[in-house]
Amino acid sequence: MLDICMTLLFFAVGAILGSFGCCQVWRIRNGDKSKRSHCLHCKYRLKWYDNVPILSWLLLGGKCRKCHKKIGYAEILSEFFGGVVFALSYWLWPGGLSFVGDVSVFALMKFGLYSLLLTIFVILFVYDAKWKEMPTSVLWGACGVGVAYCFADFLERATVGGGVVAGDFIELLGAIGVLPGFYFLMYRVSDEKWVGGGDWILCLPIALVLGNIWLALFALFGSNLLGSFVMVPLASAKKKKKMKIPFGPFLIVAFLLVFWAQDWIMEFVGL
Ligand SMILES: [Zn+2]
Repeated sequence: MLDICMTLLFFAVGAILGSFGCCQVWRIRNGDKSKRSHCLHCKYRLKWYDNVPILSWLLLGGKCRKCHKKIGYAEILSEFFGGVVFALSYWLWPGGLSFVGDVSVFALMKFGLYSLLLTIFVILFVYDAKWKEMPTSVLWGACGVGVAYCFADFLERATVGGGVVAGDFIELLGAIGVLPGFYFLMYRVSDEKWVGGGDWILCLPIALVLGNIWLALFALFGSNLLGSFVMVPLASAKKKKKMKIPFGPFLIVAFLLVFWAQDWIMEFVGL
């Protein structure tokens, strides 16, 4: 019973974060500084009841209440998948997620930073899927959150974990070398043809949160596998050989899968 309640609660929080993230996409794109969200066509200011994630979109049939123009699918998709990802995070959090009893403050910090990073990833995911580029300021914001997460992780290990050893730093450096390092090299060597400028920056927070060379390798392999599964049929359907690929969404999905499966992966590689 508790699990069902927690799952629903996490889904609701994730849907709100997804909704918030998707709103920011338009604000950043249009340089809009206003606090309240509004319709992109008629500037109708959304009331609180127009802002309930998923439900409002469904009740209005994906249209603006005033001008009845289509809102688009990005909104409901980010709300729905924000909810799904958050509910899955509750179930698949490495080592189990707990907020009661003897919980380390650093573990709580890690979850808070992870939630913040997910919200930023919603922005980057939608932005990259729409315009095949990612806003640099948001990317560096994600890096800042990644650094903070990494700190909290080391502090947790130093206090309640088995302590920090030199190997932990080597693993972290390995992760940075494998993901952002490799992509930065590809970006430089190919002169932005294979890898976009945003992709290697996006790899930084991913490497910092995974913090392990094996996990980074799985994320690298996974994102390329996902990318080819989706983009090869799409490119051949459109008969375009030189299609620009938004790689950010694949990196983000691969990151989540590896993050959730990290205990199994580490067991698999025998460490
Ligand atoms: Zn409107």
